[in-house]
Amino acid sequence: MSAATRLREVQDRLAAAARKAGRDVSGITLIAISKTFAAPEIEPVLRAGHRIFGENRVQEAKGKWPTLVAAYPDTQLHLVGPLQSNKVKEAVALFDVIHSVDRDRLAGALAAEISRGQRKPRLLVQVNTGDEPQKAGVSPAEAVAFVARCREVHGLAIDGLMCIPPVEADAAAHFALLARLGKEAGTTWLSMGMSGDFETAIAHGATHVRVGSAIFGSRDTH
Ligand SMILES: *Cc1c(COP(=O)(O)O)cnc(C)c1O
Repeated sequence: MSAATRLREVQDRLAAAARKAGRDVSGITLIAISKTFAAPEIEPVLRAGHRIFGENRVQEAKGKWPTLVAAYPDTQLHLVGPLQSNKVKEAVALFDVIHSVDRDRLAGALAAEISRGQRKPRLLVQVNTGDEPQKAGVSPAEAVAFVARCREVHGLAIDGLMCIPPVEADAAAHFALLARLGKEAGTTWLSMGMSGDFETAIAHGATHVRVGSAIFGSRDTH
């Protein structure tokens, strides 16, 4: 099955999940996560009309996206992976949305780069809803205060929250937690749900779902 066909299937599933949740499909953004896939594998999805993509590494994205964006200028790029402070300049230059704000040093570096006035990506705070030691993100207990600090101390506009639930966990509980934290923090976007669980995320209010393998195929075998 082609990536364009799989994209249509995912769009149909997304629309069905929105209907089931009594939500308007226009309130849900499908981000096609193209990490590890090269330009020739991404182009069919662009040709099919999709324009919203996500990557998890700045360096990898820098290697393939500038050429693709030149060919499809209305492309919107999301960074969904961790961001190091020393990569902030490149990230702000390339990405329209950054989902992984999770510490003061990074927030400060983003504020400094954005204040240069060239570009202003939309920002989400990543929450480590499972409090996993190896995973990026602020702990749920810190999330609301961190959003407030981003706004008040660093002067950043924060649009939403993002999470990646633990692999073996019941994702629904993590999505519900993120939605509750978003309400408390006064943010509107919820970036949650991947290939295996985006319908559950939509039932819990996801505004942005990040779908990779269900569109591009398995990353292990390509
Ligand atoms: C890889 C990745 C995804 C997509 O995962 P799939 O299971 O392939 O849909 C979503 N979000 C993040 C942060 C990722 O790194």
